[in-house]
Amino acid sequence: MGSSPARLDPGQILLFDADDTLWENNIYFERAIAAFISYLGHQIHSAEEVREHLNACERATIAQHGYGLRSFRRSLLACFEQLSGAPITPEKHERIASFTDIVAKHQIELLEGVVDALPELAARHRCLMVTKGDPEEQRAKLERSGLSQYFAAIEVLPEKHEDAYHALAQHHGCEKAITWMIGNSPKSDINPSLAAGLNAVFVPHGRTWVLEHEEINRPHAGRRLVQCERFLDLTLYF
Ligand SMILES: [Mg+2]
Repeated sequence: MGSSPARLDPGQILLFDADDTLWENNIYFERAIAAFISYLGHQIHSAEEVREHLNACERATIAQHGYGLRSFRRSLLACFEQLSGAPITPEKHERIASFTDIVAKHQIELLEGVVDALPELAARHRCLMVTKGDPEEQRAKLERSGLSQYFAAIEVLPEKHEDAYHALAQHHGCEKAITWMIGNSPKSDINPSLAAGLNAVFVPHGRTWVLEHEEINRPHAGRRLVQCERFLDLTLYF
């Protein structure tokens, strides 16, 4: 992890994750899931067991249909059907689907320091937004966030794995030695970008989605991994 911050030369390429890096995201899913679990009101399985089953449903749905709200809705419906052991009536279907409105309809809540640091970073460096999920949903959130002006390009990838970072670096002409992936997810932001030979900045978020947890690996020789506890601290390095 980084120790003594010394600001790097201007002209670095900063790749920003969006969900839970620039703005709150997972907390809305957590609220929707809590509402779902209480609606299911399972007689045998505990809330933790229901949650674990939902995680399994989510892994399966994502593998087949990718990320995004439509996938999340499918996962809730599958979980309900499997645990209640009965087909879902149209009324129940509608009620379960309505829990995803908690995620769909919230205001964009920028994380602390973003509104101050991002303009400064964008003035000194080339900033790209690199997120995953449903392209329409992610672009709509960026629009609502008011942050579009700071990004030279937007990439919404189906999955953020090592190959995706190789392809992205090539596509956008990112010299790897001066390219940094910045995000909250060890699994999607940090480990695959380090594996692809980029530098990375881990900005932890206390409510990171459990499916994104992973132990952090080491960077390639000559590359760096920095941890910033606060988004604003990015301005100490960049
Ligand atoms: Mg994220």
